[in-house]
Amino acid sequence: MPRIVLLGPPGAGKGTQAQWLAKDLGVPHISTGDLLRESVRAQTSLGDEANVYIRAGRLVPDDLVLRILRDRLSRPDAAKGCLFDGYPRNVAQADELDRLTPIDRVIAFDIPENVLVERLTQRWTCPKCGTSYNLVTRPPKAPGVCDRDGTTLTQRADDAPAAVRTRLTVYHEQTAPLLEHYRRLGRLTPIDASGTPEQVAQRLRTALEGRT
Ligand code: AMP
Repeated sequence: MPRIVLLGPPGAGKGTQAQWLAKDLGVPHISTGDLLRESVRAQTSLGDEANVYIRAGRLVPDDLVLRILRDRLSRPDAAKGCLFDGYPRNVAQADELDRLTPIDRVIAFDIPENVLVERLTQRWTCPKCGTSYNLVTRPPKAPGVCDRDGTTLTQRADDAPAAVRTRLTVYHEQTAPLLEHYRRLGRLTPIDASGTPEQVAQRLRTALEGRT
């Protein structure tokens, strides 16, 4: 019953790896970013409130994220294990997660900052299935549409340059301290997240081999 957290800055490739790894492990991919974007699309009151923060590139308040996370964890598939992507984002969230479900491993995605900015600004995403493309390194087969379901790709509002800058600052100030937090608990495994998604997937498999 693996419970794994993928930790890393925005643009590190967590979402792409999480989609693949979740399938390999047979556990659900739980992305709080995806769940929040779903609420925004559904125009729930939580979604409307969260959207103000998301568009600015700031963290959504912990209590809203926790509500959405609790809801997701109560679904039966989460009993098989979980792959968390984008949660926790600060120490208070890590403590909350420990209370909700014990975490076995935290994989930290190591990547130079200039690569992140390039990846985020070239990113186009399928609003239906969440698959990410990069116009330079991983373009869709047909321009502008998702390979998997033919949906028209969109660019996330928070991938605009000003929001990207804020998200990177927020990562350094609030999320990066979690590296030390999990290192002290002996649960942290760093991997090199540069290179192609396939290279990173291989490093991820090696890091997890025999230890989940
Ligand atoms: P992501 O898709 O993980 O990059 O998340 C996109 C945006 O959703 C972030 O910039 C935050 O505004 C919000 N968000 C996602 N996960 C969290 C979280 N765990 N805590 C607070 N805000 C979050």
